[in-house]
Amino acid sequence: MQGVIRELRSQLRYQIIGPFLILTVIVAVAGALAVFYQVAGSLQERFNSQLASVTRTANDTLLRQEAANLQVLREVALAQPNPSTGAPGVAEALADNDVAGLQKAIDPYFRARARDRNDGEGFDRLIAFDGRGQTVSDFELAPDNSASNDYIVHAPLDISEAWFTKKALSGLSDGRGDKYAGLIQFGDTLYFASIAPVRSGEQVVGGLIAAMRVDNLLALLNARSVAAGITLYNPSGTVLASTFSTAEGGVAAMDLELLRSFDTRTNDLSQSLFSTQKVSGREYQFAYTPLVIRGVSVGILAPALARDVVIQTGSDTLLPLIIVVFMLVVLLVGVGVLIANRITAPLGELARTAEAITAGELHRRAHIQSQNEIGTLAHSFNTMTGFLTNLYGQVSSESSQRAAIVESIADGIVVCDTDGRITLINQATRQFLGLRDDEPPPTWFSDIPLQELTDGALGFGSQRAQDLFTLDQRIVRVSANRVVSSVGEIMGSVCVLQDMTAEVAVDRAKTNFIGTISHELRTPLTVIRGNSDLLMRGLAGPLDDEQKVFIESIRQHAGNMTSLISNVIVIAGLDSGSLSTDLEPLALTRPVEEAAWPLQSMIKAKGLSLKIELPEDLPEVLADFDQLRMIMHQLLDNARRYTSQGGIVVRANALPEFVQVEVQDTGRGISPDMQEQVFQRFIRGDGVSEGINSSERGIGLGLAICKQLVERQGGAIWMTSTPGQGSTFYFTLRYAHATPSPEKSKAPLAAAA
Ligand code: ADP
Repeated sequence: MQGVIRELRSQLRYQIIGPFLILTVIVAVAGALAVFYQVAGSLQERFNSQLASVTRTANDTLLRQEAANLQVLREVALAQPNPSTGAPGVAEALADNDVAGLQKAIDPYFRARARDRNDGEGFDRLIAFDGRGQTVSDFELAPDNSASNDYIVHAPLDISEAWFTKKALSGLSDGRGDKYAGLIQFGDTLYFASIAPVRSGEQVVGGLIAAMRVDNLLALLNARSVAAGITLYNPSGTVLASTFSTAEGGVAAMDLELLRSFDTRTNDLSQSLFSTQKVSGREYQFAYTPLVIRGVSVGILAPALARDVVIQTGSDTLLPLIIVVFMLVVLLVGVGVLIANRITAPLGELARTAEAITAGELHRRAHIQSQNEIGTLAHSFNTMTGFLTNLYGQVSSESSQRAAIVESIADGIVVCDTDGRITLINQATRQFLGLRDDEPPPTWFSDIPLQELTDGALGFGSQRAQDLFTLDQRIVRVSANRVVSSVGEIMGSVCVLQDMTAEVAVDRAKTNFIGTISHELRTPLTVIRGNSDLLMRGLAGPLDDEQKVFIESIRQHAGNMTSLISNVIVIAGLDSGSLSTDLEPLALTRPVEEAAWPLQSMIKAKGLSLKIELPEDLPEVLADFDQLRMIMHQLLDNARRYTSQGGIVVRANALPEFVQVEVQDTGRGISPDMQEQVFQRFIRGDGVSEGINSSERGIGLGLAICKQLVERQGGAIWMTSTPGQGSTFYFTLRYAHATPSPEKSKAPLAAAA
């Protein structure tokens, strides 16, 4: 069921015709119901009026019957003696109590007017009674012999006590005359009778009764009124007689409620009271109307019509109605489906085309000829698809061109997303990593086995390159950059791996060469310096002053050259990795003093002072003795060379994290624009303005060596300088043993507070 609903919902055509269909069915059913109720209502109305007319006819017939009865009675009562038959006049016979004469006088009337069995009108019994209320003549048509007009003569009866006898014999007249009518019971039989007095002159001598059996009367009324049946009730609702058969119980008595509403109703035939009742398995509608005889209601007359006429007509109407409605609904649904299909078919084509294009059939286009909005939509869709396909072609050709370029770049290219996940590598990178073409690249950039190149990095001519790494057997330079989109969003990073193996090899060869040459140069220089020393001391004979000047010059230049060559050797050692750093705990005093000692005579000769102010309780530092000495020597020698008056002070401060050493001089200072560069290789002052002679001028390697050596000890170096007033160089050294400092131990407490 849910599947069906989903299917219906997924199709536009059903969504279009769905509400339309429901509406159609509702309208059709409502219309059919309205028609049906209309038909049924008018049927019922017709039926009711038919029943009312039946009732009227029954009443009319009754009135006519009564009038006919009275007419007969009048004729009989006024019958004169008949000389031909010898019959006396009826009044005379009654007055004379002449039974035989009376019967003779009445007989022809009875025969002539007794009820015609076929016609139904007339009467069944004609009674003449005398002034005492005794019946004198009593003829009745034989009830069981319906075919003949034979009659029976009843034995005399005493009816003196009956209400009508008294009234008739009294000779009085009510508002309607001196005749009466009503229902009279003789024995078991109920009659509808009219009673009239018979007068002889003014004297009432007896009376006449013309009576019709009620069952015959009802049969007559029934026949005249074409009712399905007529029932007579007494005023308390009990059935007195009915034309319905008594099989299966016959007609039921009126129930109390019906009787009560009958009593309160107006005596208007058009407003007959109706009820339905089943008699012998068939449903009838009864119309109750009072049986009024001479202004007196003597009972309730109820003609009935079978209701199956209504029911039948109703159901006869209903079936074709249902068929018509059904066909109408089917027709409407069919038309609805057709229209919906016509509307949705182009949309379906459009949807299929879109799906095909999504699946990769870029050449597919929607073939829709309609000129309406869907046609316009399809046209726009086709145009848009064409445009996008072109664009896609351009983009993909551009991207494949770019991919080809990236692929053919000799340097390795690695593109990563912001998390460091590799999204692209080129052929060169594959070669670096030793990957075959079909092998997947590493997932993360960190998976690439790059190892920092610690020793032997290239760059005698530059600072040691931080961006060199070993990758497998190669040495690569890794330069990374962010990839930023046109809207400024960081999309990841791109790394270029440059194969520097050959360059590093060449550089190392150069460094080694310089190192070797320097070593080779130092030996003859040492000899020159040593021999010039010996000559100065006069070991080769006394020297005159001029000779001393020359030899001193040789000695000085040889000394400078030696320190210069030493610096070159240190640099070569650093670059080639042959200079190792052995950190050990040591007291700062010894390397500082050992560095100062060879310089002291020169400092003094220049007229400068040297103060070494190291705290006695200075903790041991972690350093390489020779390298620390070299650093101190270089800083002190610089201070000596660039200071012409004043003095040099060496201090050390035990700071919480490290020991800070400073070398302060009162020299010329360093100009601000040079301060930033002094730790770079080959950066030096112009010499002349610094007031130093050419023999003392270095080549700008001293501070670069200091920086590199300090960093090897795990420290940092910097300087402050005021031109014309002096400079102070600072560097830090780590403590040999972690010393809990007061500041440090306080910190967590402070944080906790
Ligand atoms: P150099 O061998 O030329 O002295 P350094 O690396 O030791 O090379 O020093 C670089 C430059 O820094 C020097 O040329 C000099 O101009 C300046 N310099 C170094 N130390 C001092 C100092 N104590 N006072 C003034 N200038 C200095």
